[in-house]
Amino acid sequence: MAQEGKTQEFEYKAEMKQLLHLIVHSLYTHQEIFLRELVSNASDALNKARFRKLTDENILSKDVPLEVHIEVDQDANLITIEDAGIGMTREDLVERIGTVASSGTKAFLEQLKSQEKPLDGQMIGQFGVGFYSVFMVADKVTLETRHADNDSQGFRWESGGEGTFTLEEIERVERGTKITLHLKEDAKEFSEEQRIKHLINKYSNFVDFPININGEQVNTVKALWHKQKSEIGEEELNEFYKFIANDFMPPMGHLLLHLEGVVNFRALLFVPEKAPPALFRDEEYQKLHLYSNNVFIQEDCKDLLPDYLKFIRGVVDAEDIPLNVSREVTQSSPVMGKIRSILTNKVLGLLEDWAKKDPEKYMKMFNEFGPLIKTGISTDFKNKDRLIDLFRFPTTRKPKGEMTSLKDYVESMGEDQTEIYYLLGEHREVLEKNPNLEYFKKHDVEVLLMDDPVDAFMITYLDTYDDKPIVSIEKSDIDLKQDEELAKDALADEDINKLTAQFKITLGDKVEDVMVSKRLVESPVTLVAGKSGMDAQMERMMKMMDQNFISGSKILEVNPGHPLIKNLSRMVDSQDEIDLIDKVIYQLFEGALLLDGNLNHTSDYVTRMTDLMVKATNN
Ligand code: ADP
Repeated sequence: MAQEGKTQEFEYKAEMKQLLHLIVHSLYTHQEIFLRELVSNASDALNKARFRKLTDENILSKDVPLEVHIEVDQDANLITIEDAGIGMTREDLVERIGTVASSGTKAFLEQLKSQEKPLDGQMIGQFGVGFYSVFMVADKVTLETRHADNDSQGFRWESGGEGTFTLEEIERVERGTKITLHLKEDAKEFSEEQRIKHLINKYSNFVDFPININGEQVNTVKALWHKQKSEIGEEELNEFYKFIANDFMPPMGHLLLHLEGVVNFRALLFVPEKAPPALFRDEEYQKLHLYSNNVFIQEDCKDLLPDYLKFIRGVVDAEDIPLNVSREVTQSSPVMGKIRSILTNKVLGLLEDWAKKDPEKYMKMFNEFGPLIKTGISTDFKNKDRLIDLFRFPTTRKPKGEMTSLKDYVESMGEDQTEIYYLLGEHREVLEKNPNLEYFKKHDVEVLLMDDPVDAFMITYLDTYDDKPIVSIEKSDIDLKQDEELAKDALADEDINKLTAQFKITLGDKVEDVMVSKRLVESPVTLVAGKSGMDAQMERMMKMMDQNFISGSKILEVNPGHPLIKNLSRMVDSQDEIDLIDKVIYQLFEGALLLDGNLNHTSDYVTRMTDLMVKATNN
């Protein structure tokens, strides 16, 4: 009791001084996080007291409930946060509070000082002195505390932030800590009850001790993700989802995880019913919240799931993540890496489960988020095969609106089919009219109709499935069997060779080659990409991205059974009307370009067509 009433003054340590100077004199974004820091400290202290109560009969104020009490007084411009936690000893006050925990602080401080933008208040946590974030909003802070030991002494700690703090012994009956903030002029908002309620709701709603503001409890005490599956009602789940996701619809499904082992965490994840517009628009979109032992630490944490699963919403509560970590730290933390890999695995597992047991639900999900999931093929090498099995595509065998998996495709392949076929394009309607499909339709060979814009990108990562090459039917080197029926009716080899030679003379270097087609049934000609070329859709994409993109040369395939081709062959034979032959050949070539969406100037095409119609109507 020797020191009671006597106030001692202490100087802050050198680095602490610098840090405080910065805190006091800078402008901030996220000023409000001081409240989270204080509530989180209070929650830690309550956790310790809870443990102590369990193990020690003699704890001070044994019957005082484990609660947080916040009082705001707008007239006096004060906010007070009091907890019945473990409290602090004199040593704690001198040593713990006021000691910068992280190394390299100095260099970092220098860097911060030279920054001209407002500082992010959350950065203060980096130094392991979250408590000092109070000086963003207060010009005087009074802390009264008494440790939970029965024979402890009460202390008052006080500081204006800069230079020094004072310490004196006081009479304090109950264990715990009470912190009073005298708010700065520009931080008056933090003495408004509504503002504080809102912040508690945002940051600490799920702290598992009651939080009272001016006498009224504002939080829901037991965090939902800490409950057992059987304890959680659907209604409760839906309300929670809507609350965290700002969604008006209940989720499509959820995952409740409780993992113990290499890393310990719980997670409550949701698949939304619909993709919000920001999902595809906002590159930074990410909606998982990170908690550490019930205390909210990061909103929209980017490191918990890969980008292609960023439509998942929810919370992850990890035991091994320190509070006050910055985004940079969470990013490189090995614990986060493990959590991310486990979460990815579980989410893929959930989707696989739907695909197997509830295909209708799966397709609903895939229609919303499929394009995003497909992008994963380029980044998640580890899960590539699982991802590919989750993909679904429209196909020539199914009506519009239905899709197939590669697994089903392969299972229904004909015995002599060795390749998986696809056609890329913008709309199913256009794809269905593509002349390259004629052979496949006639022989009932299934072709995947890839009409999702992301497919052109995705397909570059998808070479084979089940050891079968995946090939575009617009490529020249696909392995097709001769159609016997058509062959009977076709031009003789000698005639068709003469005709293709004429095509080459007329078209010159506009095409790489002219060949006899096996894939055409009804159309006279079609354009296909050479061995190293791109198919039409891919070229359109390249052109969209790069105005100067030059199309690769194409191979023109000619249908030897088509009446027009037969007529042409006769004309070439007699070298009759060479002008007309040229015109028809040009018209066929440009018509094929037009179908592919690659005819840049249509005027010649139209003029030629008019000429040909004049000729036809003249007879
Ligand atoms: P951190 O919480 O990251 O350790 P802080 O600056 O917020 O950093 O707090 C420093 C230390 O002060 C804590 O580790 C704890 O020992 C003590 N402390 C802070 N607030 C309280 C409180 N309300 N009750 C008991 N101890 C506290």
